[in-house]
Amino acid sequence: MDFLPENEEPKKKKGGFNSYWLFAILIIGLLATQFLSLNFQIKQTDEDYFFLKLIPSGDVSKVTIVNKEQVEVFIKEDSLKAKKQYADIKLTKLKTVNKGPHFSFEITSIEAFKQKLDAIQSATPYERLIKVNNEYRKGIFDIIGWLLPIILLIGVWMFLMRRATGGMGGAGGQIFNIGKSKANLYDKDTKVSVTFDDVAGLDEAKEEVKEVVDFLKNPKKYTALGAKIPKGVLLVGPPGTGKTLLAKAMAGEAQVPFFSISGSDFVEMFVGVGASRVRDLFKQAREKAPCIIFIDEIDAVGRARGKNMMQSNDERESTLNQLLVEMDGFSGDKGIIMLAATNRPDVLDSALLRPGRFDRQISIDKPDQKGREQIFKVHLKKLTKLGPNVTPEKLASLTPGFAGAEIANVCNEAALVAARKEKTQVEVEDFNEAVDRSIGGLEKKNKIISPHEKEIIAYHEAGHAICGWYLEHAHPLLKVTIIPRGIAALGYAQYLPKEQYLYRTEQLLDEICMTLGGRAAEEIVFGKISTGAQNDLQRITQLAYAMVTVYGMNDKVGNVSFYDPQQDTTFTKPYSDDTAKVIDEEVRKLIDTAYQRTIALLTEKREQLNKIAEALLAKEILFKADLDELIGKRTFDEEPVPVAITID
Ligand code: ADP
Ligand code: ZN
Repeated sequence: MDFLPENEEPKKKKGGFNSYWLFAILIIGLLATQFLSLNFQIKQTDEDYFFLKLIPSGDVSKVTIVNKEQVEVFIKEDSLKAKKQYADIKLTKLKTVNKGPHFSFEITSIEAFKQKLDAIQSATPYERLIKVNNEYRKGIFDIIGWLLPIILLIGVWMFLMRRATGGMGGAGGQIFNIGKSKANLYDKDTKVSVTFDDVAGLDEAKEEVKEVVDFLKNPKKYTALGAKIPKGVLLVGPPGTGKTLLAKAMAGEAQVPFFSISGSDFVEMFVGVGASRVRDLFKQAREKAPCIIFIDEIDAVGRARGKNMMQSNDERESTLNQLLVEMDGFSGDKGIIMLAATNRPDVLDSALLRPGRFDRQISIDKPDQKGREQIFKVHLKKLTKLGPNVTPEKLASLTPGFAGAEIANVCNEAALVAARKEKTQVEVEDFNEAVDRSIGGLEKKNKIISPHEKEIIAYHEAGHAICGWYLEHAHPLLKVTIIPRGIAALGYAQYLPKEQYLYRTEQLLDEICMTLGGRAAEEIVFGKISTGAQNDLQRITQLAYAMVTVYGMNDKVGNVSFYDPQQDTTFTKPYSDDTAKVIDEEVRKLIDTAYQRTIALLTEKREQLNKIAEALLAKEILFKADLDELIGKRTFDEEPVPVAITID
């Protein structure tokens, strides 16, 4: 997310003199000199006049042949003053005039002209000979001819540079700032209006962040007790959970200068720019200390350095190195604290996470029911007219698995839906529609699905639902629908997984069965299968491979785990070809067994399967309560849980 303050930082004053003006002046100057030098009072004449009148008069001091086609004649100063025939060459301007030629005429052949002149002068004594110069003069169009491409080139170059540097500000001098950090600075003058109250939930994270602010304000309190002040704090969590928001609130409340920059802002196509931006950022920060530096999406610079030769990126690595060097260069009690956010802590270079760098991690998870309630409370404030039944509790229960950003979006979307229906208030059903929309992209009202296709989809989803219902370890169902959505999903079933971090083998096996339920139902009912299960198959393939190679859940492969998030296993597998074969076989066996089990279960529950599929065809959407009614309550105990899983 972008870190844009509500009150935008006052734009830097644009310099009145930018480089476009420079070019304009240059061109005008060139044109002017051209015209000036040409526009002395030259009288146009012809060759005859020159040979018959001017030469015999003895007044010519010299001639210049320009570009082999034009002859310019200079008259002696004395003659200009003395002789009447030169009277119309203004003598008052003699000084300037005298510098330029006085007559000029065209010639067709320079050789013929020279011969004629030599013939006349052959008898002239040496000291009275007329001097003849040859000159090649560039016309204005010649100059434009070579200047224009250069100007164009420079123009294109500047345009590219501007694009590369983000094109902010609009000053032509942007290119000169390329090595400067692009961090936004928020301090006393640029108020950020976000406060900790705008950040709902995340209580622990808020506490920790507040502590960091306190470190900066009262370092003595901590150092007196011998505590070391942390240097860097890493906010880790999935996208949209409010990491940027939290940082923004920190800027709003810290009352110390706050530098904010995104990791991708360092990375530029020019070598060395990233490193120099880092240097510049820290230089500014040292001047402003105590202060906070926030780097959003730090994984853009902080990715592990070249383990994989083919993907090594010198520019990014030198940026990262510079960052590490700078972080080592100050200590927390110098009054600079680094804050960074990422959703991929696993790809970060381990050097960044070492003590003395980002030694503190705050993890920010997707909100649970209560957290969502609080986030809804914050965002519902923006909607002015709400229906009577719209409560944060209700909305939170509609949106398991949603992050803050999605909740904000749902609130806005619900208002739009209500407005489209010309309602005067936003009601629960509008929220429902908004939720559906954000789950699977826009609802496709006019997507045409044949009745037969619809039947297949209904049985497919009913298959998932039945498996979830009758398998003990499967996640309990939340809702199932066949309303087409998005591009890929033709329907989906949503489950509430148990809140847990350790899964047992049988749970994962049940999950595989449940995911296979769609395809199995198609096979049982129609005797053939469709492409609708592609997404399901992808999931279980991943899961099955993880069980065998990561979680050590297979007897043949044994208690080994080949997990290494920073290793690209496309080219180098951490196990032998023999093991690879065993792994493939075991995964296949695992999935086959699960599929047989699913088929058996669905065959046994065929009656219930039909009921649900028919209900789906009629109503298009079924909630848990509907299933209770149709096929009886689920026999396994369940507690309400926060995060939903959606299966197509
Ligand atoms: P992240 O940086 O983790 O990807 P953001 O902080 O950019 O997520 O969140 C995007 C938007 O989602 C915020 O601007 C805010 O409107 C909303 N949001 C996310 N988390 C929360 C929260 N805990 N409380 C209130 N709003 C939130
Ligand atoms: Zn499916």
